[in-house]
Amino acid sequence: MRRSGIKELLVATNLDREVLVKGWVRTRRGNKYVQFIALNDGSTIHNLQVVASAELFPEENLKDVATGASVAVRGTLVASQGKGQTVEIQALEITVLGKADPEEYPLQKKGHSLEFLREIAHLRPRTNTFGAVLRVRHALAFAVHEYFNKNGFYYVHTPIITGSDAEGAGQMFRVTTLAPEHPPRTADGSVDFSEDFFGKPTNLTVSGQLEGEIAAMALGKIYTFGPTFRAENSNTARHLAEFWMIEPEMAFYELEDNMDLAEDFLKSLVRYALAHCADDLQFLNDQYDKELLVRLNSVVETEFQRLTYTEAVEILKTAKQKFEFPVGWGTDLQSEHERYLVEKHFKKPVILTDYPKEVKSFYMKLNEDGRTVRAMDVLFPGIGEIIGGSQREEDYTKLITRMAEMHVPAEDLWWYLDLRKFGTAPHSGFGLGFERLVLFVTGMANIRDVIPFPRYPKNAAF
Ligand code: ATP
Ligand code: MG
Ligand code: MG
Ligand code: MG
Repeated sequence: MRRSGIKELLVATNLDREVLVKGWVRTRRGNKYVQFIALNDGSTIHNLQVVASAELFPEENLKDVATGASVAVRGTLVASQGKGQTVEIQALEITVLGKADPEEYPLQKKGHSLEFLREIAHLRPRTNTFGAVLRVRHALAFAVHEYFNKNGFYYVHTPIITGSDAEGAGQMFRVTTLAPEHPPRTADGSVDFSEDFFGKPTNLTVSGQLEGEIAAMALGKIYTFGPTFRAENSNTARHLAEFWMIEPEMAFYELEDNMDLAEDFLKSLVRYALAHCADDLQFLNDQYDKELLVRLNSVVETEFQRLTYTEAVEILKTAKQKFEFPVGWGTDLQSEHERYLVEKHFKKPVILTDYPKEVKSFYMKLNEDGRTVRAMDVLFPGIGEIIGGSQREEDYTKLITRMAEMHVPAEDLWWYLDLRKFGTAPHSGFGLGFERLVLFVTGMANIRDVIPFPRYPKNAAF
């Protein structure tokens, strides 16, 4: 008999037929006449109720049908009288496939703290919370590809091992070979970590942007979507050492076009999640964040507020709120400033543009004032910066000058400069941190809870 998925059975209309389901037991409860087993197979947040009558299944025969065990159930799919469910299964045969000793299995009925669940990353996907988060994460990743594919962007794979530091921020992890002849040994025989990728120093990428620009200057509109790494020795709820970044890059786009794309893209992703993850989002809304659905719906409908960094600094200077870090023209904004603008002042997403050149990367296009660059950061409620982007400097001479000012070695980036030598054109792009998007859409509070295997200081066990 073919196994049915629980998600499809829960909405089935052809009842009173025999079905076979397999899944993990969430709970078993009941009395001496009947036992109710809540079964979940990961396809949906909802459990399927299995009814086991004492005539067929005396309770002592069900002792291994315990929380966490995997079982196969053959039975009749019938209409249910139970609250919140339209169907259930009257069991005819129950086979335990894999036991879970109640004395040892950590995910018993009681709720666990998210901190505790981080310590058991191998089991937490079995909880309702992580099941929901992982399904939403999947849907968003799919929506990213669908959006770009529909809009004529090509997906380009940029390297993970790279010789360049795209951000010039020195937040890179070094790559070291441990092949027999590499890295060289020091005189005392220990590994010499100053040598790395077969003699050439290389890093794990912090961004696919520079390579993405190569592709955009050939294919027109491209995007990357891959893992990026930053040696962030910070313990914030918004930073990971390994995160996924989505980076579109477009030839012939100026800053305005870039902002329009970013706004449309974000709205379309949120809309996709609302349409395709209704049950999981409802669960997360009820469980963690009663404002979640209201916030998601409002982002989709609201026009984002656009203003310059200079205007934002004026607003922040006159704000009633006391900030931990003082604001003044020329300093980078902290998350507390970004969130004030979004959550208190404008009460909607904000796109800030034209930052002082000193706080942004060398590749951003210089404005005519000579002091600011065509940067744009998209700021979201509860998150702060969700996107960082810019129009890129397309002028060879200006780019060389900016690189010198910011101590970026031109000889390492000769290929990047070549793009300005041969057929240069205005172009723009941005980076969306995928986990920050998942954080926003799920309403979770900590970025460590929206990626299956979070990497943060002192945590990369498996
Ligand atoms: P922040 O100011 O929050 O540290 P950033 O300005 O250093 O971010 P960018 O270099 O602009 O980050 O990267 C583009 C996007 O990648 C950011 O807008 C954010 O969404 C995401 N991002 C950056 N660093 C991290 C990180 N350590 N963990 C998760 N996402 C990140
Ligand atoms: Mg940063
Ligand atoms: Mg930033
Ligand atoms: Mg940024």
